[in-house]
Amino acid sequence: MKYPIVAYGDPVLRRKATAIESDEYPHIKELVENMYETMYGARGVGLAAPQVGMSMRLFVVDASPFDDEEPELKDFKKAFINATILEESGEEWPFNEGCLSIPDIREDVSRKSTILMSYYDEDWKHHEETFTGMAARIIQHEYDHIEGKLFTDKLSPLRKRLIEKKLNDISKGAVDVDYRMKFPAAKKGR
Ligand SMILES: [Zn+2]
Repeated sequence: MKYPIVAYGDPVLRRKATAIESDEYPHIKELVENMYETMYGARGVGLAAPQVGMSMRLFVVDASPFDDEEPELKDFKKAFINATILEESGEEWPFNEGCLSIPDIREDVSRKSTILMSYYDEDWKHHEETFTGMAARIIQHEYDHIEGKLFTDKLSPLRKRLIEKKLNDISKGAVDVDYRMKFPAAKKGR
C-alpha cells in the first residue's frame, strides 16, 4: 500500500520522532514494505516515517540507483529502526540533494563522508555499522527527518531566501508532482 507523502510545511516534519517499542509494533514488516512501495512509487532513494505522517524513528533506504558510481551499492536496500548516529567523521563533501517532501527543489548540501550507526533492522536485529559515500549521504538525510530537520535548514541565508516562495508554494500544493502528496496549506478540494 502506498501512503501519501507529506509536503514541506507539515508540523510532523519538524517533530523529533519517537523510538519504536518492538511489542508495540508487531506489524513493523508490513509498515516497512509499504514505505518501500511508497518510496519506489515516487522514485526516491530514501523515505522516513515522518514523511508519511508517522512520527516514528524509522526510515528506509535503497541506494542501488547509485551503483554505477559505487558498484557495492547494487543491493543496498535497508530499513533502519531506532537509528542513532554514533560518530560522523571524514571530509565534508557537497552533493545536490532533493527530498520527496520538497519536490522540484535541489540544492548542494555538505555532509561528512563517514558515519558510525547503531540501528535495528525489521527483524529487530541490532547492528553497529559504518557507512561511507552515497550510502552515508542518504542515511544522513533520512536521519535528519527523524530528528525533525530538513536539508533546506542547512542552506545559506541567501539560498534560503531564494527558495522561500517556492517552499510556500509547495506547502499550498502549487507544485507539479506525479505521486500522491498531502499539502498542509492546500485549499479544500485539491
Ligand atoms: Zn527528505
